Amino acid sequence: MPGNPASQLMPVAVAQERLLGLVTPRATAEELVPLDRARGRVLSRPVTARWALPGCDNSEMDGFAVRADDCATASPTTPVPLPVAGDARAGAVIGTLARGTVVAVATGAPVPLGADAIVPIEDTRQDGEGSVLFLAAPRPGQHVRHAGEDLESGKVMLPPGRRLRPVDIAACAAVGGSSVWVRRRPRVAVLSGGDELVPVGAVPAPHQVTDSNAAMLSAAVAEAGGEVIALGIVGDSPDALRERLHGASGCDLIITSGGVSVGRYDYVGQVVGELGSIEAWRLAMRPGKPLLIGRVGDVPMLGLPGNPVSAAVTFELFGRPALLALQGASQVHRRHVALRVGEDLETRADLETYLRVRLTDASDGIPVATLSGGQRSSMLRSLTDAEALLIVPVGMSRAPAGTLLTGLELG
Ligand code: AMP
Ligand code: MG
Repeated sequence: MPGNPASQLMPVAVAQERLLGLVTPRATAEELVPLDRARGRVLSRPVTARWALPGCDNSEMDGFAVRADDCATASPTTPVPLPVAGDARAGAVIGTLARGTVVAVATGAPVPLGADAIVPIEDTRQDGEGSVLFLAAPRPGQHVRHAGEDLESGKVMLPPGRRLRPVDIAACAAVGGSSVWVRRRPRVAVLSGGDELVPVGAVPAPHQVTDSNAAMLSAAVAEAGGEVIALGIVGDSPDALRERLHGASGCDLIITSGGVSVGRYDYVGQVVGELGSIEAWRLAMRPGKPLLIGRVGDVPMLGLPGNPVSAAVTFELFGRPALLALQGASQVHRRHVALRVGEDLETRADLETYLRVRLTDASDGIPVATLSGGQRSSMLRSLTDAEALLIVPVGMSRAPAGTLLTGLELG
């Protein structure tokens, strides 16, 4: 049998490494995109600061800019009166402070030259017209946001490989980027296989099945930064499959679903073996055991099992990381979170099992996981009702309530 040696199931982590070995970003494939279209894209070059952040010393509080020396003896019982010589608001140009006076400042206002501390309004009292009583001695430098303290001009704000979240886009904008260099979107061919399948929108006869996997994969590929090349549905025929896979030449990744198992009408393995190579086939996991990793020509390919839950879980574990790796992302796997088992569980010891669970908060901060419904890999409803996938590792056949495990939160 091609792929792993016969009857040997490959551990998930080993198969993930194999896949990541097949997908490498092309060094030249980058494009410049405006910030409003950059969310979810992966930086191909660092973002450096065109100017310091902040650009000048400015106030962190509403209050008064002072020379700390001038009110060093201030306390609630010995208040120090000082005249207010000016008023600086956010956006005002940088002024100066004369010794023995103070300037009223708003949050974000430039600190006048000569001032070295900000006294919050709460530590003062009005003292008639044009004068303020200081009730506390300021520390020199207090509540001053110093020029460049967040980032100095010319320094790197964001490294290449960062997948841009809204806060990263804020960071680019703040230091002068209006567009960023990102990796081109990987082109992902999506193909569904099965004689029973009908396209979304058609009304299936009772013996037919709507191609929900293509709908799921289109959305999931887009979410992971890819561009979908929809290859439609192909029947269970090796000739038709071979023919249809030609449409994927020039793509960065092929994702099929269905036809990859051991049934008489499952032809994906055979055809991939002919047109390319099989790097891994059959994993020690549930759902998703029949997963195939290979190449068609020189295009990396993922053959996902057809069951909707298997397809979704294997996309999450393999498809999404592959897409992020193709974009040069520094973090391709989702972080595992600690989960507490909420009910006695039994699983197969030879398979890494991904259980669909709901979560409830607990006082120790570790969410408690209970099954969200039936766990057959055909049951999509319990997946939509799930908030996380609880992982029962290989070697464990019983996980009593209270066991500490890990899982993946579903986005
Ligand atoms: P297979 O992996 O081809 O053995 O299919 C396993 C199960 O998944 C069968 O019940 C199929 O009808 C179902 N299935 C296969 N492909 C899809 C698809 N694209 N959308 C929804 N269900 C599918
Ligand atoms: Mg099938």
